[in-house]
Amino acid sequence: MDPSEQFIVIGEPERRTERTNVVVMKFGGSSVADATCIKRVATRIVDARRAGHPVVAVVSARGDTTDELIEAAQEISANPPAREMDMLLSAGERISAALLAMAIHELGYDAISLTGSQAGILTDTVHTKAKILDIKPVRIQKALAEGKIVLVAGFQGVSEDKDITTLGRGGSDTTAVALAAALGAEVCEIYTDVEGVFTTDPRIVPDARKLDVISNEELLELAASGAKVMMARSVEVARRFDIPLHIRSSFTTTPGTWVGQDDATMEQAIVSGITYALDDCKVTIHGLPDKIGVAAEIFSALAKAHVNIDVIIQNVSEGGAADISFTASEGDLSKVGEVLSSLKEKLGFDSFDTDAGVAKVTLVGAGMRTYPGVAAMMFEVLAENGINIMMISTSTIKVSCVIQKEHVETAVKALHKAYRLHEGLVSRQEVFGLASSK
Ligand code: ADP
Ligand code: ASP
Ligand code: MG
Repeated sequence: MDPSEQFIVIGEPERRTERTNVVVMKFGGSSVADATCIKRVATRIVDARRAGHPVVAVVSARGDTTDELIEAAQEISANPPAREMDMLLSAGERISAALLAMAIHELGYDAISLTGSQAGILTDTVHTKAKILDIKPVRIQKALAEGKIVLVAGFQGVSEDKDITTLGRGGSDTTAVALAAALGAEVCEIYTDVEGVFTTDPRIVPDARKLDVISNEELLELAASGAKVMMARSVEVARRFDIPLHIRSSFTTTPGTWVGQDDATMEQAIVSGITYALDDCKVTIHGLPDKIGVAAEIFSALAKAHVNIDVIIQNVSEGGAADISFTASEGDLSKVGEVLSSLKEKLGFDSFDTDAGVAKVTLVGAGMRTYPGVAAMMFEVLAENGINIMMISTSTIKVSCVIQKEHVETAVKALHKAYRLHEGLVSRQEVFGLASSK
């Protein structure tokens, strides 16, 4: 292919495409769950087209299709080949794209559905967790020039080895944002089943508050620590390519949450959101010789196996042996087991165990950067609710605690109340004054 057709290389922001009036709209699984939903989405897309925008719509698999396909695979094999998983899972998004194209034709507009591969999305070869390397949206641009509405099956691409890949759970968000970057879109609209980004999951805390605007940095932390509403990688891509994001409901026309630049934290709240992650598990390695290079060896091997590690704790006992605990996602547990078993003899540790009964609760807020009491108050609130903290990790704008899974709902509700997130912007004195006067 002619190199001039390379519109974007993710990782080279200087090669930005000129802004156009293209709109990229992404519809999540619940937004296309049944025929009524698909027709509603079709109308919404046609409205944008009527308003004068060339439209590219990215769709997810319908309802619980991806989970059902994973279950179908597990009924056949405990450890299915990752390449075949990608062949299987990518089908869910293709179904949605084709049905939506039909619904748009019914409304009298010309539409074409494309797979990720046909849309020009090139990825690396890491099956089930592929990263986009390059987008060559030649077919999309041709179809747009012919006046067609383009539907792209989200969450997938084609690898350098010409195999179909998928981008990891929630990956349609990344497809949408990366396409918006490649096409120089005016805006990337993420349509979902809630009205925007809330102070916490509105399904757990009904009085959670919708944020009208959130900084890219905070959304990235929320997404990375478990808020399902956006895939973390998609927020990174939006930040790198400066893509305006609007996260909103596909069921109402209410404006949602706009994602602003990092210095645009409109609300200087100490805590802007609380997240939880249920798919973490805790791994502990017992009796490691306390020698230089041991941790490097373990975590390099895990990284090579594409296992993402989160919180890490090391305890060294007086006898010179160390215990290391870390969290990883439950889906990576078998890979963690393989890696650690292969290192056991070489490193000479006693044993390792895994605990899938854990969860992580995280407070995120740009305002906590300059406020030291946030972590202490979090621990206090958890203690008052009888919740034991197993691990802690912090960054400049977040504090995470690993706790028992069964306590997650209590923890999220109690923290949301303690930081008065339902009330909007509350001053630091008010929040902390309230906590200490209890
Ligand atoms: P989609 O299928 O549209 O991609 P997801 O299920 O991936 O939707 O993400 C939307 C869900 O994210 C919501 O239904 C909500 O339960 C959950 N969620 C978790 N945390 C938040 C939050 N802070 N704000 C909004 N939604 C959240
Ligand atoms: N269907 C995929 C998933 O359920 C991708 C997505 O919805 O974004 O994770
Ligand atoms: Mg999603």
